[in-house]
Amino acid sequence: MGFPVRKFDAVIVGGGGAGLRAALQLSKSGLNCAVLSKVFPTRSHTVAAQGGISASLGNVQEDRWDWHMYDTVKGSDWLGDQDAIEFMCRAAPEAVIELEHMGMPFDRVESGKIYQRPFGGHTAEHGKRAVERACAVADRTGHAMLHTLYQQNVRANTQFFVEWTALDLIRNEDGDVVGVTAMEMETGDVYIFHAKAVMFATGGGGRIYASSTNAYMNTGDGLGICARAGIPLEDMEFWQFHPTGVAGAGVLITEGVRGEGGILLNADGERFMERYAPTVKDLASRDVVSRAMAMEIYEGRGCGKNKDHVLLKIDHIGAEKIMEKLPGIREISIQFAGIDPIKDPIPVVPTTHYMMGGIPTNYLGEVIVPQGDEYEVPVKGLYAAGECACASVHGANRLGTNSLLDLVVFGKSGGDSMIKFIREQDGWKPLPENAGELTRQRLERLDNQTDGENVDALRRELQRSVQLHAGVFRTDAILQEGVKQVMALAERVKKTEIKDKSKVWNTARIEALELDNLIEVAKATLVSAEARKESRGAHASDDHPERDDVNWMKHTLYHPLTNTLSYKPVHTKPLTVDYIEPAKRVY
Ligand SMILES: Cc1cc2nc3c(=O)[nH]c(=O)nc-3n(C[C@H](O)[C@H](O)[C@H](O)COP(=O)(O)OP(=O)(O)OC[C@H]3O[C@@H](n4cnc5c(N)ncnc54)[C@H](O)[C@@H]3O)c2cc1C
Repeated sequence: MGFPVRKFDAVIVGGGGAGLRAALQLSKSGLNCAVLSKVFPTRSHTVAAQGGISASLGNVQEDRWDWHMYDTVKGSDWLGDQDAIEFMCRAAPEAVIELEHMGMPFDRVESGKIYQRPFGGHTAEHGKRAVERACAVADRTGHAMLHTLYQQNVRANTQFFVEWTALDLIRNEDGDVVGVTAMEMETGDVYIFHAKAVMFATGGGGRIYASSTNAYMNTGDGLGICARAGIPLEDMEFWQFHPTGVAGAGVLITEGVRGEGGILLNADGERFMERYAPTVKDLASRDVVSRAMAMEIYEGRGCGKNKDHVLLKIDHIGAEKIMEKLPGIREISIQFAGIDPIKDPIPVVPTTHYMMGGIPTNYLGEVIVPQGDEYEVPVKGLYAAGECACASVHGANRLGTNSLLDLVVFGKSGGDSMIKFIREQDGWKPLPENAGELTRQRLERLDNQTDGENVDALRRELQRSVQLHAGVFRTDAILQEGVKQVMALAERVKKTEIKDKSKVWNTARIEALELDNLIEVAKATLVSAEARKESRGAHASDDHPERDDVNWMKHTLYHPLTNTLSYKPVHTKPLTVDYIEPAKRVY
């Protein structure tokens, strides 16, 4: 076996919002729970979440969980699983109050209740008017949430392995998951973490794109690790482009800016969203706004000397409100665009932001795979939550603020499922003879490779190719070329080399290992996107401009070991309410 072994009841890979919420559940129940994280937990990408977390608290005007459910189903373009969506929207008010009671410092409305702001796609009475549903801590909601959850975990005695990177999954002869291998990043030492149950909460993989709001650490590790262990990846063609990344920098300007009254203008000074979404205008769903912006730019109404962006104007809401509700946004604009939004509009373009697909799970956080005639059989001992998982509540397009909600709702339900599973086990299942072998082979290849390719150059080539071939607008020809290029790159990734080994620190090694994950995410994205011959949510094909419910209301499953796809039906049975029938998605 070769590597030293550490034993825990549960191992959570990822210390962001989802991982910490799950760990809290496990540690509070008295189980021995380890959290592995590439970065200090409060530096996880959840820290960047700005605008809010959704819940139908109705603190500003009347709201209901079933209106939230309707908006989420509509936002998903009817690809979301309605049982999971009902579960999440019903649980939302309790989940947010729970965070409040843990000490999360929400902003307040006059009455002292949690402050809520409007957000894209959040409506009352099934689209009749915008409603304030995003519970916010200024424009730093994720920061506040992550710190609150971290402190609670410290109190509950969760064991943190900070700057440890998980490398591979360990499955026994029956396919059950019994642990992971992981490397301490400072020393390069590898250990086996032997566990009764493992959860992936490794966040998104937005770094497959050249321009992204995602942090450099978002390399889709959970997906890559699962893919190498033969677990399929679901709905990977659906990537959300956030309408308002700072032009040239990609850094996010939250939709909360439009929630607070910001508007988008083209080069003619026209508020163009009035043409694309007459009811909710600038607060339409993200894919709708992103496509409208891309269309304005494409048709020559972009701003600046290259006519390559539009403008986000907020000066009319007043300096005082900007300083109080959007201080971080002002800072970002000044730093990354050289613009003070109190005086001038911010230049913005659509930028890759969120991965709707991921490791297939149900609303209990169990990882589910097809087996024989069954579409969804749980992999024993394996769980996933957060952006790396596909529950699927976001379907073809996520509504803003539904991700932070997804983290805490499915983090908690996944944690509960793990507790139940662990308590049913009779101790640890033995490690297989070859535990750690895949990791050993990967490391040995890297150490011995000569005449290989430079990791950094290859990653950049991959990012440019995915950006070009799986962007806002897609055609059959562009996607086919993208598949060809990514498959060729995958062959080259097998021969990466760490140049001048005597001079490099472990980061170079880790970047090479991360590239193994990025390439799995990129393959899944291109192959799934090329296959889907319709336009739905974030997947917009010029050759197939309409949604096709007859042939395509189904989830894709990319099988990494064979490079093939299979499909599974969308769940059309909510838990207690009636099915929300498909309709045209207009705002
Ligand atoms: C700029 C920005 C603003 C956003 N604003 C909002 C918002 O207002 N509302 C909303 O709902 N959503 C928002 N989102 C989306 C939301 O923030 C993310 O989807 C969510 O925070 C992801 O949380 P997570 O717990 O799944 O992963 P993350 O917070 O990304 O955490 C991933 C964790 O996994 C660890 N990890 C990864 N790989 C490994 C490995 N191999 N080994 C060990 N550890 C590993 C990392 O160290 C990290 O701890 C925003 C996103 C961005 C980019």
